[in-house]
Amino acid sequence: MAVRFKDYYEVLGVKRDATENQVRQAFRKLARKYHPDVNPGNASAEEKFKEINEAYEVLSDAEKRKRYDRLGPNWKNGAEFTPPPGWGRVKVDYSGFEEPSGGGGFSDFFEFLFGSSRSSDQEQSRRSKPTKGKNIETEMALSLENAHLGGRHRITIQDTRTCPVCRGTGSTGGVVCTSCRGAGRLLTPRTIDVNIPPGARDGSVIKVSKQGHRGAGGGEPGDLYIKLKIDPHPTFTVSGDDITTEVPITPWEAVLGASIEAPAIDGKIELKVPAGAQGGQRLRLRGQGLNKRGGGRGDEYVKLKIVVPSKPTEEEKSLFKEMAETSRFNPRR
Ligand SMILES: [Zn+2]
Repeated sequence: MAVRFKDYYEVLGVKRDATENQVRQAFRKLARKYHPDVNPGNASAEEKFKEINEAYEVLSDAEKRKRYDRLGPNWKNGAEFTPPPGWGRVKVDYSGFEEPSGGGGFSDFFEFLFGSSRSSDQEQSRRSKPTKGKNIETEMALSLENAHLGGRHRITIQDTRTCPVCRGTGSTGGVVCTSCRGAGRLLTPRTIDVNIPPGARDGSVIKVSKQGHRGAGGGEPGDLYIKLKIDPHPTFTVSGDDITTEVPITPWEAVLGASIEAPAIDGKIELKVPAGAQGGQRLRLRGQGLNKRGGGRGDEYVKLKIVVPSKPTEEEKSLFKEMAETSRFNPRR
């Protein structure tokens, strides 16, 4: 396969004499525009995003940029690239190198100029056939409000990588490797931002592509599966898309009816208690439940609890006494 020249200056839209700062600004602007999170499922944006990252990787690094500039300004983007005579490949140490989010390595052209962008992990197994990395399964706790609304949440994954000291063998020079204590692998926590769609439920599983363990031999990384655990809520109990809460009311609010404030998942809501309401009665607030995955919302149920004053004042006592003597109401008749 022919290696194609990449005009990194053109990719970032900067002049060949652009300062470090100009390069960074151009990169940030483009990265925001083409970030996979703002272009979900858009393959051409993803491709562009990779290209921008690659260009930035080169132009933001004085050494790489110098080497790249040695090719001269006469190359056209996409032209078939044949290296000038005497152009030797360099070996670049990429330990600790993080691949740009959005995955995928760098182009053949990049690798030709700067060596492999793969980690030593993948480097080691390059000769073997590409195998996809293993999936990672993990759990994430979420409040009911956050599950309802969705949004970006940060999660730290316990990834592992091949120990760079012993290259995965577990020993160096016949003794147990002190870096990995013979395990051959090291824990490498990785923090990523996950987009939780609105309407997640307890036990919902979010799949994040290519955020699992690294692949071997240049294979794709595995996927990340996050099981959501929704914290118990102090006010609401959940049943499917519906939420239920209990609200205390006074005996006179129950008898006469009232407009009261009730808790809602988005804050507070006005609730009309009908005259003659009974203790334990459930009032339905249509469409005030949880967001559903496909749009729409469940309902909220408010259970009324009639509460009487446990330490009535003299005046309250005399009012209740008057009612006891006057009223003919007998719920047991
Ligand atoms: Zn080791």
